[in-house]
Amino acid sequence: MSAQEKKCPRCGLLIGLNAVRCPGCGRSYLPPPINPNTEACAKLSVVFGGIAFVLFRWGVSGLPEIARALYHVVYWFSGVAGLVLGIISLLRLRANPRLSGRRAARIGIALSVAPVAFGVYLFTTLWRH
Ligand SMILES: [Zn+2]
Repeated sequence: MSAQEKKCPRCGLLIGLNAVRCPGCGRSYLPPPINPNTEACAKLSVVFGGIAFVLFRWGVSGLPEIARALYHVVYWFSGVAGLVLGIISLLRLRANPRLSGRRAARIGIALSVAPVAFGVYLFTTLWRH
């Protein structure tokens, strides 16, 4: 082992001292940042999940006929977007531990699950009749 090399603690391969990633096992050697970046999808997931949840709680019954189509479009779009973005950010966070936002992604998913599940339930019920 020379002065410019270190041993990877995971796989034992000799790697350059300034190596960013172990070529043997893929372990990252970037120093942890002081302020880790929040995964952008996690924030968006909370925003869309929040919109979907508010619409879900609010309901469509008090709205005039003309606004109902828009309600359903926004409801479905934000519900599905919140759910998908939350899952994407959880996967990204798993792949990159330097990112933060796990809590936000979970909140986004939690907010989106009820509106989407209820929407799917209503849709399948209506479909049968
Ligand atoms: Zn390694």
